[in-house]
Amino acid sequence: MTMAAAQTDASPKTRPCPICGHVETRFFTEKNNYTFLKCPSCELCFIHPVPTPEDLAPLYNQQGAPQDGLRYPYNKVEHRRKRAKVRAGRFKKYFVGKDAIDIGCGGGYMVDAMQKMGANRAFGIDLDPEAMEFARKNHDPRATYYCEAIDDFIKRGMTFDFGHSSQVIEHVGDFNAFVAGWASLVKPGGYFFLKTPDRRHWLHGEKPETWPNPPEYTQYFSRKNIRILFEKHGFEVQKIFFNIKPTMEILARRKEK
Ligand SMILES: [Zn+2]
Repeated sequence: MTMAAAQTDASPKTRPCPICGHVETRFFTEKNNYTFLKCPSCELCFIHPVPTPEDLAPLYNQQGAPQDGLRYPYNKVEHRRKRAKVRAGRFKKYFVGKDAIDIGCGGGYMVDAMQKMGANRAFGIDLDPEAMEFARKNHDPRATYYCEAIDDFIKRGMTFDFGHSSQVIEHVGDFNAFVAGWASLVKPGGYFFLKTPDRRHWLHGEKPETWPNPPEYTQYFSRKNIRILFEKHGFEVQKIFFNIKPTMEILARRKEK
C-alpha cells in the first residue's frame, strides 16, 4: 500500500485531534500497517498520517465483494428498497414537500425512497460512476444523481431541508471538510441524519482488533466526539438513537445562525 511509503521518518509522530484540537494525542493501535492515534479528551481514534485523496479514490469504487454474481449495490435490490423505505419513513416530516439529499448515496435507494415518499426534489451524490448509473436506470426518474465529490457539488449552489449520509464519514480523508460541506448544503433550521459505526458502543465496546481495516476506515468515532464534531460545524444534535448494533444514528439540526 502506498500509505506505508508516505509515512517516512520525516512525518511527525502525532498531530492534534482533528475534532477537539487536543494536542496531546497518543499512539493507539496499528492496523494493516497504518498508525492510529487517539485523543484522550474526546476519544477519537484517527489514522495518521491521512491517506491522500489519490490513495482513497479506488476504494470508493469497490463497495463490497460480489455476492450472487452481483456486487453491492446491485444485489438484493428489493430488500434494499424496503430498508430504505423504512428509514425514509422515520424522517418523513423533514423532507415531504421539501428538498433532500443523500451524500455518498451508493445505489441511490434512500434518494429513491425520499422521492417516492413525497420529497419535492431528491438528490444523491456519490463518487462511484457505476452506482450512479445504476441509480439513474433503476429508480424514480424524478430524482437526480451526480457522480461528484461534495466539494464540487457545493459549487452548484443548491441547498436542502434534509441531508442524509450513511456509513460514509468513517471512510473519508478530511472529515472536517466533509462535515463543513454538509453545513453548506443544509439550510439553517434544516435537519441532517448520520449513520456511522460507534466504537464505544455500550455493548460491543472498544475492541480495536475487531474493527474493520484501514485504509477503507480512516477514523473511528464515538457518541462523545460525533456530538462535538456536529456542533463545531454549526449543527445542534437533536437525538442519538438507541441501537443494539455497534452503530450510531444521529439526528442534528443546522443552527439558524
Ligand atoms: Zn479530541
